[in-house]
Amino acid sequence: MTAAPGTADELRTGSPSAGPGEDDWAAAVAAVRGLPADARVLLICHVNPDGDALGSMLGFGLGLRRLGVHRLQATFPGPPEVPEPFRWLPGLDLLVPADEAYPDPDLVVCFDAASESRLGDLVDRLDTAGTSIVLDHHASNTGFGAVHLVDPTAAATSVVAEQLLSRLDVPLDAEIATGLYVALTTDTGSFRFAATTPEVHRLAARLLATGLHPGDISREVFDTRPFGAVRLFGEVLGRARLEPEAAAGHGLVWTDATLDDLARHDQQPYVLESLIDSVRCTAEADVACVLKQVGPVEWAVSMRSKGAVDVSAVAVALGGGGHRFAAGFTGSGDAEQVIARIRVELAGALTGGPAHADGCRSSRTR
Ligand code: AMP
Ligand code: MN
Ligand code: MN
Repeated sequence: MTAAPGTADELRTGSPSAGPGEDDWAAAVAAVRGLPADARVLLICHVNPDGDALGSMLGFGLGLRRLGVHRLQATFPGPPEVPEPFRWLPGLDLLVPADEAYPDPDLVVCFDAASESRLGDLVDRLDTAGTSIVLDHHASNTGFGAVHLVDPTAAATSVVAEQLLSRLDVPLDAEIATGLYVALTTDTGSFRFAATTPEVHRLAARLLATGLHPGDISREVFDTRPFGAVRLFGEVLGRARLEPEAAAGHGLVWTDATLDDLARHDQQPYVLESLIDSVRCTAEADVACVLKQVGPVEWAVSMRSKGAVDVSAVAVALGGGGHRFAAGFTGSGDAEQVIARIRVELAGALTGGPAHADGCRSSRTR
């Protein structure tokens, strides 16, 4: 998963593939410890937040609260609705709508955002804040912000968040650990993806030792959806298309979900986040795509690869980003136009590595 020096990831972004150095950790610790007693701290995660974005941010936020930081807000760009599967997370009381966030906080901390564009209108806080710390694990991270805690070898941003809490001498409790655990399970596909290292399991063990409830968490986050969403999935999966010749013969499977599909089944867009997992199981295709309509001619595109294709290269070429085996972008036009552009990019995006034959094996997603 790590981009070795000189790989396409590094050459494209210019960002280092190594994780944070001791200087970076020291700068982050100093930025927190040096805060005056009445400091205002603003936590920001990426637009359309997933389990890693929210879980890392709220878990870390609760840790800061334990440190005595009381003027503390957490937010994300766009509509302030938290996706249903995360509406029970400890620390939700830290959340404020983006337009109520401190205009000039003393410290900004960003979570799981690979680029400034993922911060939407909140990007100006990087300039108005006293200083900023960026916690992330995308190899494509652009190096924005003042202090960079970016570890492309980390399975989730929560891995970085837990290390920083540890260096700040904040002991884990069940509330902090729950957010960090949700983040870890989300980005490792419940410990199934290739990023699931021994260190991931050691972190999971530390989190579980606080007494959190993994069964309840998994059911809330992964195994609960409205009946309307079950019906919607059936319909959208029923029209999935398999293109064995695409991606230089490695195969593409894709489907689209329209605003009309959502309306007919009376569903919110968040229910479509897990749709890609039902599509990417297709044994005959290395690449899976789901096109989720977000406007009349706008689509949020999710892409996954089993190993033969670098979908982050496709996403970056089309204006987005992500990881080699899990990436996304926003496309415009109709669904056929968007998938046509993907087909063109797929033809040249091979990793050079072998395609995995086992259907549902995948790398980390988010
Ligand atoms: P998703 O398919 O939404 O789960 O996203 C998979 C990966 O692609 C994550 O690492 C996201 O951060 C990244 N990603 C998705 N959409 C975008 C986008 N519009 N711009 C940049 N990165 C994206
Ligand atoms: Mn994310
Ligand atoms: Mn992540």
